[in-house]
Amino acid sequence: MREQSVVEKGFYGEFGGSFIPEDLQKVLGILDAEFEKYKDDPDFQEEFRYYLREYVGRENPLTFARNLTNKLGGAKIYLKREDLNHTGAHKINNVIGQILLAKRMGATRIIAETGAGQHGVATATACAMFDIPCTVYMGKVDTKRQALNVFRMELLGAKVIPVEKGQGRLKDAVDAALEDLVANYQNTFYLLGSAVGPHPYPSIVKHFQAVISEESKRQIMEKEGKLPKAVIACVGGGSNAIGSFAHYLDEQEVRLIGVEPKEAPTMAEGVPAIIHGFKCLTLLDELGNPQPTYSIAAGLDYPGVGPEHSYLKTIGRAEYVSVTGEEALEAFQVLSKTEGIIPALESSHAVAHAIKLAKSLSKDDCIIVNLSGRGDKDVNQVFDMLDNVQ
Ligand SMILES: *Cc1c(COP(=O)(O)O)cnc(C)c1O
Repeated sequence: MREQSVVEKGFYGEFGGSFIPEDLQKVLGILDAEFEKYKDDPDFQEEFRYYLREYVGRENPLTFARNLTNKLGGAKIYLKREDLNHTGAHKINNVIGQILLAKRMGATRIIAETGAGQHGVATATACAMFDIPCTVYMGKVDTKRQALNVFRMELLGAKVIPVEKGQGRLKDAVDAALEDLVANYQNTFYLLGSAVGPHPYPSIVKHFQAVISEESKRQIMEKEGKLPKAVIACVGGGSNAIGSFAHYLDEQEVRLIGVEPKEAPTMAEGVPAIIHGFKCLTLLDELGNPQPTYSIAAGLDYPGVGPEHSYLKTIGRAEYVSVTGEEALEAFQVLSKTEGIIPALESSHAVAHAIKLAKSLSKDDCIIVNLSGRGDKDVNQVFDMLDNVQ
């Protein structure tokens, strides 16, 4: 795969880079060099594949959604089943990759940040299996809202540190993790959860999530004998989307469509700005600060987006659309009823757009929707939301 987007190392056009203090720059410089050393190393690849197969349960299927397709009467809809991975979402792919990198680098301790708790749980899970001590920073406010995920992480043996500074949210957890990294970089690896952050994190996360499109491309060729008209994925920070797009970037005839919540329209309304140490399209308030967002899908609630998505939008290689929480909630129920698959609320955004798009295409076409995760975690919330509507 050609890294077509990397115009200059760490930059995707004007986006990306690393706008961080000198001491952190040094630490991430080491990480960059080590990543370059191992990413294509055959032993490293083999070990990564081993755990994806034996622990995550890859490869996962590309399921033809026959009932949904028939109901809509348009393009064939295929679902890439990241929901079937161990821990129920795509995040584990990246976590396994980064832990293997950490081990090669001699780290004896993993730290991570988490907002809603999903990345924290994935990290705690793999750290338990690899028997590496794990510390997860989480905003104090978030620990209260996601008490069950805090319990899950603790059950898995991780130490969760509630961050009281600032607003007690994700940004403050990121700051606390970076502070820890700078103080303890000699034995500590910071495992970042999405295709965001300063260089080299966006490239690292893309590298490990690219397995999604590596598989889906082979699978669609086997099933259909041709490439899909479109690949659709939801976009929070952008890791499942960039992983779903990676192996199609050079296939100009394949439309790449990222779906964001209308309530957090980073792509539609964001402006280029620096947040969390990198440049991307960002939602800012009147004072120029990152704007608090609210999506019904906690994993999509982020005021910025990965630098490569910002770039792909600018050059027109990928399209970004938005759907409302209501549309996602509808798609959540439609997929459950037609296919017996309960999607995560995040993934339901992608499904909602796929439903619109499929109807406008011919029966000879096919499209792929990345089902980034399963919806078991969201059933309580949906229950409450539907009760409120009635
Ligand atoms: C975290 C999460 C997302 C959003 O993160 P990306 O980095 O944009 O992929 C989407 N879907 C699920 C199921 C998630 O857990």
